[in-house]
Amino acid sequence: MTTILLLASLTTLGYATWYLILCAASPWGRCRRCHGARSHRTTIGTRRDCRRCDGTGRRVRIGRRIAEYIRAEYRAGHQ
Ligand SMILES: [Zn+2]
Repeated sequence: MTTILLLASLTTLGYATWYLILCAASPWGRCRRCHGARSHRTTIGTRRDCRRCDGTGRRVRIGRRIAEYIRAEYRAGHQ
């Protein structure tokens, strides 16, 4: 039983580590709302900048913020 729990936690930790590495390597993801197109076509046919990403078409992955937080905490604890 303990082995299964240990294995499960190790797997979770492995996935979390991989995700953080991924976020550190490429912190930007495509904006989910405009899918990187930066703008939307309005009902009257004009284009308007996407408000969610401010017209950049990109967004910061949530994991990047977590990684930055961990790094800041780590640095603060090792001075
Ligand atoms: Zn967008």
